[in-house]
Amino acid sequence: MNFVINGDSGDRPGLRGSRCAECGEVVFPAVLDCPSCLATGSMVDHQLEGHGEIANFTVAERGPTGFDVPYVQAWVRLDDGPTVFGILVVNDPSNAQLAHGQPVTITIGPIGSPASDVMGWQFVPDAVTK
Ligand SMILES: [Zn+2]
Repeated sequence: MNFVINGDSGDRPGLRGSRCAECGEVVFPAVLDCPSCLATGSMVDHQLEGHGEIANFTVAERGPTGFDVPYVQAWVRLDDGPTVFGILVVNDPSNAQLAHGQPVTITIGPIGSPASDVMGWQFVPDAVTK
């Protein structure tokens, strides 16, 4: 799996990425060779903390089978570097007050409809979690 339920932060899930022992580049998902300095076999396990900000988002009015629409797709720039794709969990996707740069926190949940048995990472705007 690309995520862990109890991340290193202790209060939220984490994503399994990797960090280059040569140049410090952090990527997700984990890889063996560094995409930045091109060192081979230089990547070591590195857990991403699962907090970041919305880099971009869109409200999807259509989705694949098993997805309740509308829902929000987003690119999230993590505090520890990489930008990852995920679903934003909001109550009313078509009218949600979302903005670029808005802080979000990772959560693990069903992908698609609430009845889905496929689990994955999603993000929740910080204002909703407080
Ligand atoms: Zn490197």
